[in-house]
Amino acid sequence: MNRTDTQEPAISNTENHGIGLASDTSAPCSKRTPSASEATDYYFCQAADVLGVPTWLRSLLLIPKREVTVRIPVEMDNGSIETFVGYRVQHNNFRGPMKGGLRYHPEVNLDEVRSLASLMTWKTAVVNIPYGGAKGGVCVQPSHLTTKEMERLTRSFVDGIHDIIGPDSDIPAPDMGTTHEVMAWFRNQWEKYHGFNPAVITGKPVEEYGAKGREEATGRGVGILALKLLRRLNIRPQDCRVAIQGFGNVGSHAAKFLSESMFPIVAVSDVSGCYFNPRGLDVAALLRHALANRSLEGFAECDRLPANELLSLECDLLIPAALGGVISENNVSSVRARTIIEAANSPIHPEAHRRLTEGGITILPDILANSGGVTVSYFEWVQNLQHYSWSLDRIRQELDHKLSEAFESVWQESIAKSLDLRTAAYTVGIGRVQRAAELAGFRA
Ligand code: GLU
Repeated sequence: MNRTDTQEPAISNTENHGIGLASDTSAPCSKRTPSASEATDYYFCQAADVLGVPTWLRSLLLIPKREVTVRIPVEMDNGSIETFVGYRVQHNNFRGPMKGGLRYHPEVNLDEVRSLASLMTWKTAVVNIPYGGAKGGVCVQPSHLTTKEMERLTRSFVDGIHDIIGPDSDIPAPDMGTTHEVMAWFRNQWEKYHGFNPAVITGKPVEEYGAKGREEATGRGVGILALKLLRRLNIRPQDCRVAIQGFGNVGSHAAKFLSESMFPIVAVSDVSGCYFNPRGLDVAALLRHALANRSLEGFAECDRLPANELLSLECDLLIPAALGGVISENNVSSVRARTIIEAANSPIHPEAHRRLTEGGITILPDILANSGGVTVSYFEWVQNLQHYSWSLDRIRQELDHKLSEAFESVWQESIAKSLDLRTAAYTVGIGRVQRAAELAGFRA
């Protein structure tokens, strides 16, 4: 490949992604808050600077392979037709089939899906599973739809994208707002076009070729990595007060694992509020309450604060496990945690990341911290391809093994090159994708 071939994408990338390929890393986003994909590209560029990745290769690694927008007509229960918009961004496939979740949320847009697809490329590379990265989503408020409408929406979405999805090309999975039921409908609709092949999607119900332990995997992975990080930082679990923002699938499983590992969970929050007890919450009671009520609303065995106060509580470990962009230049000065583990994707804007890091706060980045989910998705895919099913014990053991390896490689990289953990995770991930690109023949 010669330079002339790649000059044009480099220029268009600068226009499309705003932050561009020039590596002005001193003031990441001083003019305005970056969009989701600008923030991801910024983190990429910081690590690419460390690795000395040439401009032509940055374009190749930054620009998605394919972006698809589809209209999704859905017959509502009252007989009317509503049309939704859905996306699938296939970011990179140098290391294997593209992999990533499907998000149903009212704020889903192409820029956000593009950013999340790119994160998947670096995430699968950091945890060293043989995939590239992709992401999809539909702009919809799931709570406004009945179960039947959700099913018809999912089937109509599959009608729009089925020909770019497949077990050897692009394998979706759950993300915010999608459940194992949605995965089952997706698979069933895709198989109407292409025939039986449960490996086309992961996060399925266990009785429908799903993996045991997939549901707990992201939260459990956060807990496993918290133990590893705090051991390195010489903080004992019982001395580590934890605050968790978000009590959905990820936050609740992280809380369960950490409280069983002796961490005092001093605060958790959901949209209804922040539930706080400086001596530690009764996590088993919280889990029971959330299961029965599908919300923390009404949990009375502790103090209650407004939901957004969780981020500014004094604690040793803060775990944002909800939406992206929750810590920005506007509220970063109120954060009083010693360490942060990013269970959500992109919870911290680049400028906030810079200030926290300069302030001595250790941040375990999303592409490592929440990689437990896609790792067990990989185990599910392997089992589907082999028509075999692993025990929960084996899945948990293999998850621990994969995450330990990934954590060690990032930790060692950060020490060897004096990098913060985010930049180290990106350099590990980018280095692996770069090597795959070279082996595929992309050499200047
Ligand atoms: N949506 C999850 C993530 O952001 C899981 C993706 C997967 O299992 O493929 O990592």
